[in-house]
Amino acid sequence: MKPQNTFRFEYSYLNLPEKFFSFEYPEVFIKPEIVKINDKLCRDIGIAPENLLRIIDEIKSGNNDKKFFSQAYAGHQFGHFTMLGDGRAIILGEHILENGNRVDIQLKGSGRTAYSRNGDGKATLKAMLREYLISEAMYNFGISTSRSLAVFKTGENVYREQVNDGAVLLRLMKSHIRIGTFEYAANFCTKNVLKELSYYTIKRLYPELINEDNPILSLLRKFIQIQVNLVADWMRVGFIHGVMNTDNVALSGETFDYGPCAFMNYYNTSTVYSSIDHFGRYAYGNQPRIIKWNLARFAETLLPILHDDENIAIQLAQNEINEFDNLWESVYYEKMLKKIGFEAASPDLYFLIDDILKLMQKNYLDFTNTFFMLSDENAREIISNKNDELKEWVRIWENIITNKVGIDNAITVMQKNNPVLIPRNHIVEKALNEALTGNLELFENLLKKTLKPYYYEVETDDFMNPPDFDFETRYQTFCGT
Ligand code: AMP
Ligand code: MG
Repeated sequence: MKPQNTFRFEYSYLNLPEKFFSFEYPEVFIKPEIVKINDKLCRDIGIAPENLLRIIDEIKSGNNDKKFFSQAYAGHQFGHFTMLGDGRAIILGEHILENGNRVDIQLKGSGRTAYSRNGDGKATLKAMLREYLISEAMYNFGISTSRSLAVFKTGENVYREQVNDGAVLLRLMKSHIRIGTFEYAANFCTKNVLKELSYYTIKRLYPELINEDNPILSLLRKFIQIQVNLVADWMRVGFIHGVMNTDNVALSGETFDYGPCAFMNYYNTSTVYSSIDHFGRYAYGNQPRIIKWNLARFAETLLPILHDDENIAIQLAQNEINEFDNLWESVYYEKMLKKIGFEAASPDLYFLIDDILKLMQKNYLDFTNTFFMLSDENAREIISNKNDELKEWVRIWENIITNKVGIDNAITVMQKNNPVLIPRNHIVEKALNEALTGNLELFENLLKKTLKPYYYEVETDDFMNPPDFDFETRYQTFCGT
């Protein structure tokens, strides 16, 4: 695709009633400075990377027909219903790709909006670089996610616990509509408006559902499948989102809002890094339960439009939510069994996953490296020799693998499905801290490594070791920085 000089913006979201947005202008930053541009992604969406800063400046000059907006939404935060909205993000427009697809281009950290409450609407350089790095890593794992186009320093200070460089992130998403958008409509708008939002969402994200008998019910069903698949993908790479509030769950099924997220090192279902998650609501092992809870909140919002008869509507919604457990089990084990070499999953194999995970937790084993090591004969010995229980697991697994699929086939499957490299917290921290001093070498190196996360080469070794326990137990991540 030939790069062009500007975005091709449309504004379909603005056809929704005015209650869904507020027109906003990004703050004018006197001295914006590029820190990182995603050249490849720019080109993929038809924008010449070298023009990006000028394009943003032009868009912001106001000398055009641009209609920037922030979205209104509500959401359950840590289980409590609240009115929210984009407090520090502005959608510049919906860029139309060459294939006709539509992506939101959003500026995050560009100042206060109608929904900022007490916040300053700003973001720190460290947090925006972190989102850039992790969202791109997720993309390279093959996991649905928002993408990062660029990070600019604003030239301003942003005050948190200390003084930070301010920055904005330019990000891209199929759509920023979230469960919280539906909660907003269900709580503060009429039934007709809720219907309008639902049909807008269907047409934009799942147009194939429009001709179904009950497209709203089909949307619910589809969304449950999409989220099950997404969260099972998180589990398979040890990703902890950290703030699975309903306002951070996108109807598109893209992972987004990377604030307090992190990758788990030593396997433990109760792993939590977020500084505000005191009770472990969003711990690694709780993620399936939480997404089910979030999906139930979504189903509730649809009740008035699922069926005219309230009792039937409740029954329809309940039936779909009741499907969750079986669906989760099959999708989760399908993905996890690939990690130990089974392309095809069957319930008689589930115990192998349950058992190895229990042993990992008991023996403080690294999640990523253990799976990686199982695919190498010598490394497998190391695991096997740790103790009798692990030896026995390896023996049983080897037996089943040999009988069912053959070890060579298994290893091929494992190598395709087990990341060699995850953005490990201690390395991410080091890369970001160095980036703040202007040295992006490690940041770039890590980013480059994440381009091929399933591919091992000797140089990857430096990125593979988990941090020591001391770091791991002290490490904390933060929201809204
Ligand atoms: P999150 O859970 O991080 O997505 O954010 C929850 C809510 O807080 C959203 O409505 C955000 O827009 C808002 N928010 C986060 N940081 C800021 C900030 N610095 N200024 C204003 N609003 C913010
Ligand atoms: Mg959010």
